[in-house]
Amino acid sequence: MSLLQNSTSTPSAPNYRLSLVWIRRDLRLHDHHALAEALRQSERVQIVFVFDRDILERLEDKADLRVEFIWESLREIKDTLKAQGGELLIAHASALTAVPTMAECLGAQAVFTNEDYEPSAKRRDRLVEAELQSKGIDFHRFKDQVIFEKSEVLTALGQPFSVFTPYKNAWLKKLSSTAYQDHQVNFDNQLHEPSPKLIEQFSLPSLELLGFQRSALATLKIKTGSSGGHTLLDDFNARIGRYAETRNFPAIKGPSYLSVHLRFGTVSIRQALRLALRIRDTEPGESAGASTWLSELIWRDFYFQILHHHPRVVQQAFKPAYESIQWSKDETLFNAFCNARTGYPLVDAAMVQLNETGYMHNRLRMVVASFLTKDLGLDWRWGEAYFARKLIDFDLAANNGGWQWAASTGCDAQPYFRIFNPITQSEKFDGEGKFIRRYLPQLKGLSAKSIHAPWLAAPIELLSAGITLGKHYPWPIVDHASARESTLARYSVVKDSVTKR
Ligand code: FAD
Repeated sequence: MSLLQNSTSTPSAPNYRLSLVWIRRDLRLHDHHALAEALRQSERVQIVFVFDRDILERLEDKADLRVEFIWESLREIKDTLKAQGGELLIAHASALTAVPTMAECLGAQAVFTNEDYEPSAKRRDRLVEAELQSKGIDFHRFKDQVIFEKSEVLTALGQPFSVFTPYKNAWLKKLSSTAYQDHQVNFDNQLHEPSPKLIEQFSLPSLELLGFQRSALATLKIKTGSSGGHTLLDDFNARIGRYAETRNFPAIKGPSYLSVHLRFGTVSIRQALRLALRIRDTEPGESAGASTWLSELIWRDFYFQILHHHPRVVQQAFKPAYESIQWSKDETLFNAFCNARTGYPLVDAAMVQLNETGYMHNRLRMVVASFLTKDLGLDWRWGEAYFARKLIDFDLAANNGGWQWAASTGCDAQPYFRIFNPITQSEKFDGEGKFIRRYLPQLKGLSAKSIHAPWLAAPIELLSAGITLGKHYPWPIVDHASARESTLARYSVVKDSVTKR
């Protein structure tokens, strides 16, 4: 019998003898919806993970930070399970075949997993479900990655929201403690002990066997696993009150840096939300910071529901009229952008941060995305794809949302006539040039006044700073003022369809 169910409802308990819990972007053993449900409904559970060849084979960089992050986080889970008498079983294959095969090998009657909202993941899950069903194995999915999913937050007319503020208001109105309850995990001697043969067959493959190599993760001191996530959460707990004032300044430790943990689920989104609500509601002096941070978590849900309702955004502009924009195809400009050689220090420093660490500060993501689309006139999809390759926290929903916001093609986006000036953004958010100096040490010798636009510095200052433009640092590849005019002309094909906010 197949137990098809709505992911938010609780199925009647069939008491499975053995269930698999297939972890994907929820790499933790606490506050875990699918795992808690599997434990509730089954005598025994076996946790499994698949290094999905269909995903890994598309990754060009063999020293990919994300693969190593996953690998380290799995190692932590494996050690924790072992200490409690269990095992983590890991396959290296296509998930389409691996999950049904593992379920069959183990004699499981059900597979429990948490929802994934990306279009390709939904397709994969439908195929896995069909295969499992053909073998008489049930498949259950649960909401875990977001606070509200799919159509849980709709307009009064029952439509999905496409503007953030009314979405946020409706989201807040709907919020009750069940939405962020802790899905506690108590193993209670329920961990399955697989045979030594299966343990060997499904052991953790080395990175090399997976076709990857050690990345810069350790050098960058990126904290992995739930232990790493909790360290960051504790650290942010002490700073959240100052988030509103500090979050826009890339040289300051303002944001939480939790994005990679929310991406891979080493921190649960409900845990993050409970922190924000506790501080907002109990610490008057810190509540402004906590409320601002809460809004960011709501943006995260917002973009997930946009992707769910409008999967076409993966390829197309959210606003169809913007598909008629003619983007430049200048690959020389694009390469200069990717290689941090635009001649605009804040943009270049941000790109060095991305290329070297896999992270970029949110203010800078906005600045560089605006620069690519509105100063270089390049297609937002080029930038989006480059971020997807490089970001350790790459998340399709947020990345697509962020790029379409900056390009003005998205829902509730920056209007097309608002064009960030990369020099004034630099003066405003990195006034002393501290961030620029960290990532572009060749500009260290410039004054706080000149560092934002070195080509405007007096020749004597450049000389004493040891900088020859064109040699130590590039001349600007475009002139912002004329690029602005070209952008306004480029977007003029859609201006009639734009409502000014
Ligand atoms: P904090 O400021 O501490 O925010 C807390 C959490 O809220 C983040 O970890 C993230 O999960 C969520 N969040 C914050 N801002 C946003 C936002 N605008 N949209 C959606 N969620 C948000 N975020 C990603 O997680 N993955 C991406 O691939 C991604 N690509 C982006 C691309 C562009 C062009 C832009 C403008 C933004 C992008 N963001 C992305 C959103 C944001 O920049 C990052 O979430 C944030 O910088 C991560 O740092 P943090 O964890 O310290 O954030």
